[in-house]
Amino acid sequence: MKIQKHIAFLLLIFLCANVFAQHNTIIDKIVIDPGHGGDKPGAIGSKSKEKDITLAVALKLGKLIKQNLNGVDVLFTRTDDRDIELYKRSQKANKNNADLFISIHCNSSTNKDSKGFETFAMGFAKTAQNIAVAKKENADILSEANYQKNYEGFDPNAPENNVLFSLYQTAYMESSLKFADMVQKEFAHNTTMQNRGVKQANFVVLFQSAMPSVLIEIGFISNKQEEAYLLSDKGQYEIAASILRAICKYKNMKEGTDTPIPALKTIIPDSVYNKKEETTKDTIKIDSTDNEKPIYRIQILSDPDKIALDDSRFKDCDSLWCYQQQGIWKYTSGAFFDRNQAWEYQRQLKEKGFGDAFVVVFYKGKRISFEEANKLNTK
Ligand SMILES: [Zn+2]
Repeated sequence: MKIQKHIAFLLLIFLCANVFAQHNTIIDKIVIDPGHGGDKPGAIGSKSKEKDITLAVALKLGKLIKQNLNGVDVLFTRTDDRDIELYKRSQKANKNNADLFISIHCNSSTNKDSKGFETFAMGFAKTAQNIAVAKKENADILSEANYQKNYEGFDPNAPENNVLFSLYQTAYMESSLKFADMVQKEFAHNTTMQNRGVKQANFVVLFQSAMPSVLIEIGFISNKQEEAYLLSDKGQYEIAASILRAICKYKNMKEGTDTPIPALKTIIPDSVYNKKEETTKDTIKIDSTDNEKPIYRIQILSDPDKIALDDSRFKDCDSLWCYQQQGIWKYTSGAFFDRNQAWEYQRQLKEKGFGDAFVVVFYKGKRISFEEANKLNTK
C-alpha cells in the first residue's frame, strides 16, 4: 500500500515537473539552506561548529547574489543560529516556487587527513562513503518529533534502503547534476582545495523539494588546515563566489543567454585580501581594557562583512566595539561593569531602533556566559 502510494505520487510529480519544466526556464528564485543550526551543530571541528560555518558562507552567498544578479530573489531557510526541521526547509522552497535549492554543509571524518569538496544530488548512492555522508547529514531528524510521519517512512539510519526515495528527485536529476558539476568546476578553479567530484546519495533535506537541488560539502571541518580556511573570510568568500559563478553559468544554460560571468576579483571585496592587519589591530586595542572584570556590552548588529564604525547606522551609539565570531562581524555599543546598567542601556538602544539589541558579556576579550560572569563577579 505504502509503495503504491509512493509510486502514484512520484508519477504525478514527474508528469507535473515535465510539463512545468518546459515553461519555467527563468531562474529568479534561489533558496539557500545553511546546514544544521540551534541545538543541532552538525560536525564539530577543533575550533568551530559546522552550523556556524554554513551560516556564514550562506549569508555571504546571499549577499553576492544580490550584488551580482539583478532580479534574482534569495530566500534563506535560516539566517541565524536556530534549528529548522529538515522537511520545513524543502517545504519553504516548494511553497515559494523556487528554481534552485542549495544546501550548504561541511564534511568530517575520523581520518584527519581527509580533505576536499564534493557536491551531491539526490540519487542512489554507489559507494559506502557516499552513504556515510548521507547518514551523517540525515541524522538530525532522529531528534525531531514525528520524523517517521514527516519523512514518509524514510529510514535515516540506512539511507541505502530508501531506494524509492531516490526517485523523488528524478525529474530534476539532470539539472541537479549539471549544476553540481558547475559548482565542482568553479571550486576547483577558484580554490586550492581538492576536487572530490559530483556524487549522489539519499538526503532527507533534498528528497521532498520540487526543483533542482544540491547539497554541497564545502570542505572538511575535521582537517585542521581546511577548517582554518573554512573559518577565514578569504575562504568563505572564495567558496561563496565559486557558487555564485556556478549559478550564473546555470542561469545562462537554463535561460539560453550568454551573460558574462563576473570575475572572482570583481565579486570578492578588496578588503577581504587587505584588511587582516587593520581589523585585528582595532579589536585588540579595545580588548586590552577588558582585564579586571567581566564587561557587559549590548550587541546591536551582525553582518558577514566588516562595517566601518563611523557608519551612519551607528550614529546614536556610544562606545562602539566589534568582534568576529565564526566569520561573522558582531557590533556592540556600551561597556558596563554593572549588568543592571547594561540592561538599562539595552532598553534605550531598543527605543533608538535597535529592536534586536541584547546584552552580551566578555572577559579578557572573550565572550563568556552570564553564569561565568556572575562567578567572576562574586570571587
Ligand atoms: Zn551537515
